[in-house]
Amino acid sequence: MKEPQVFLVGAGPGNPGLLTLRAVECLRRADLVLYDRLVPPALLDHAPRSAERVCVADLARHHPERVPVIHEAMIAAARAGKCVVRLKGGDPCVFGRAGEEAEALCQAGVAFEIVPGVTAALGAAAYAGIPLTHRCHASAVAFVTGHESPAKTGSGIDWPALAHFPGTLVFYMGASHLDEIVASLLAQGKAPDTPAAVVRQATLGCQRTVTAALADLPAAARAAGIEAPALTIVGPVVGLRESAGWFERLPLFGRGVLVTRPRHQAAEMTSRLEQLGAVPYLLPTVEVREPDDWAPVDAALSDLGRYQWLVFTSSNGVHALIQRLLQTGRDLRALGSIRLAVIGPSTAAALRSHLLVPDFMPASYNSEALAAGLAERAAGQRVLLARADRGRDVLRQELAAVATVDQVAVYSQVDRVDADPAVLDALRRGDVHFITLTSSNIARSLGRVVDEPIRERIGSGAVKLVTISAVTSQDVRALGWPVAAEAKEATVEGVLTALVALAEGEKRGE
Ligand code: SAH
Repeated sequence: MKEPQVFLVGAGPGNPGLLTLRAVECLRRADLVLYDRLVPPALLDHAPRSAERVCVADLARHHPERVPVIHEAMIAAARAGKCVVRLKGGDPCVFGRAGEEAEALCQAGVAFEIVPGVTAALGAAAYAGIPLTHRCHASAVAFVTGHESPAKTGSGIDWPALAHFPGTLVFYMGASHLDEIVASLLAQGKAPDTPAAVVRQATLGCQRTVTAALADLPAAARAAGIEAPALTIVGPVVGLRESAGWFERLPLFGRGVLVTRPRHQAAEMTSRLEQLGAVPYLLPTVEVREPDDWAPVDAALSDLGRYQWLVFTSSNGVHALIQRLLQTGRDLRALGSIRLAVIGPSTAAALRSHLLVPDFMPASYNSEALAAGLAERAAGQRVLLARADRGRDVLRQELAAVATVDQVAVYSQVDRVDADPAVLDALRRGDVHFITLTSSNIARSLGRVVDEPIRERIGSGAVKLVTISAVTSQDVRALGWPVAAEAKEATVEGVLTALVALAEGEKRGE
């Protein structure tokens, strides 16, 4: 049996959490990802860095009707021995041309696999709270293309049959033909007061749902400015939205939130924001690199027995130090019986990921509390601080009064703003409502990158700032910016809790 070389993979309706495990497995193996324009870019992060990523809209000579270009690209890459993932929105077999692509691959003798995805109708049903079937209201559901104008002669759609279909109708690709679709259904006897909905960008924080009686739906959708990609759902099940709608009731639903953390640390926050219904935007403002000089670190590592305490103030510090141990031919045993202290829960979690358990973590997650706790435990002892090459010096200063302290930079933090022009535009346009700031350096780096219009929006409070701690708030105010909310606990979860409370207060009109 030939191993498949091409995977026709469904990417789901947009929310990155709705990708299947099999899709992730395929992406991890990909040498070439050929993706549709509607596929969210975050999904491509599952592919190896080395994989080539090509949007099919950019293929030379591409035209929607000239699919052979895509077929040729897949076949040529597969013949060259590459693992090809053809990533398509929703499900590849629902208005996804998987049939044509499979036929071309089969003819060329290229082995393939089809990986299903959550089709847009199912995404919209779940996230807009419209169960497509229901024991009392609908025993069948039809997926229909709304792409063809019903006015076109020779249209393949049997409108009389659809108008009398005993169940829910879902029209894909119908946003621009909504008037004609509704007119055709009404002309064939569908009741004008049948509940109906248009759902745009289903499953994303920017989802919009408009409901109306079928006869009024085109006007309602127009008034709401609904454009593609959108689905139309027709049937009594639309009436169940009142109780089944959950997504649009989430505290951050529809709110644009800027994440400013380094790219490699942003995913967790972005995904939590998506779960809270927000529209996350990513603008990394700092980056973590190797320190300029490993010599002081290596010297400390080769003589760890001298220290009674090893102290970490960030998860980056933990990973950098352990990695350096391994790189220099050592392993965890080099730590011996040294005691470990961390500043807070995410630093503790980083240690645990290396099977190490911290001996001390302060009740408040800041340098002052860490210094006070260590002063009691490490008085008269030798302490090694593994940290970034910049940041506050409080810990070393306060500890030096009672203990012998050595400090090494195990990583370097540099300002590097990866400014996606689309994100800056979103900030200027007012699509971003909140900015999260998880450190003073991040805040200062953001201060340097934003232009005058954005600065004004921040200064006037049109975009609200949420900080991780009192120290960060102080440094933000020093930039001349107001702080709208501050985390009670200096963690990402703490920032999100403060953000949710702020958004809920706004909703109540506070
Ligand atoms: N294979 C895809 C459908 C491709 S056709 C699937 O299974 O979902 C493209 C149409 O799908 C769009 O015109 C729109 O009608 C619908 N669509 C795709 N993503 C959508 C989304 N997030 N919200 C609403 N409709 C969507």
